[in-house]
Amino acid sequence: MAVRRSLPRHGRRTVGAWCFADHFGPQPLSGAHPGMQVGPHPHIGLQTVTWLLEGEVLHTDSLGSEQLVRPGQLNVMTAGGGIAHAEQTPGGSAGRIHGVQLWVAQPEATRHGSPAFEHHPVLPVVELGHGAATLLVGALGDDRSPATAATELLGADLALRPGVSRLPLRTDFEHAVLPLDGPVTVDGTPLAVGQAAVIEAGAGDVELSVPAPTRVLVLGGTPLPEPILMWWNFVARTRAEIDEARADWEAGSPRFGTVASPLGRIGAPGTPWR
Ligand code: MN
Repeated sequence: MAVRRSLPRHGRRTVGAWCFADHFGPQPLSGAHPGMQVGPHPHIGLQTVTWLLEGEVLHTDSLGSEQLVRPGQLNVMTAGGGIAHAEQTPGGSAGRIHGVQLWVAQPEATRHGSPAFEHHPVLPVVELGHGAATLLVGALGDDRSPATAATELLGADLALRPGVSRLPLRTDFEHAVLPLDGPVTVDGTPLAVGQAAVIEAGAGDVELSVPAPTRVLVLGGTPLPEPILMWWNFVARTRAEIDEARADWEAGSPRFGTVASPLGRIGAPGTPWR
């Protein structure tokens, strides 16, 4: 499946605490293209945020969670000190799969804490001048997403109508704008699907213009106060932490538990520093 990775990139590792942004599809589903088929694998130190525009994905994890996520619904998994999960497009699914998977780096205060999973079937929708914003994480005006976030963040899916919209921005946030299904002009700069615009902290708003109905993802947050170290599915601060997590996963440690999934467990690759 074609995946566009907007974060991390050379020269831009994070936007707020958002440290990973994959945009997949739209991919027509068939026997040869069964959609998302990701077997059990571990995470530490991050939250996964799964948001679909089309299709459905079954999430299972080592806490015993089993949750189908559909367009308009949000899955948020908090890894803390360790969790494992699998993600699978259900067999026999028709149509297309299209969505994003985002990671949020957990701060020091929560990154060694307990894992958790939450599903939000309904999210607040905020009317804009020429469209509406669904709040995945954080707040716009008086509306706030129910999703748990340990740092000040914004994640919003804008459904824009043709014309010009102005989105107010928190001046203490840095932001990224990612077109999901068509081009968008961001403060005068045209962007195609697969591109992203970064708006540094200090901007009070952003002007978004689309020629046709378009979905646009906006991510924002206060700049991370400390550098993070990302490797494979782990977000940490030191190589030693990553080495330990890798060894624990490879050893089948109870740290990561077990996941009920018909898919095979994914082994960790070797780290580049050993
Ligand atoms: Mn994962």
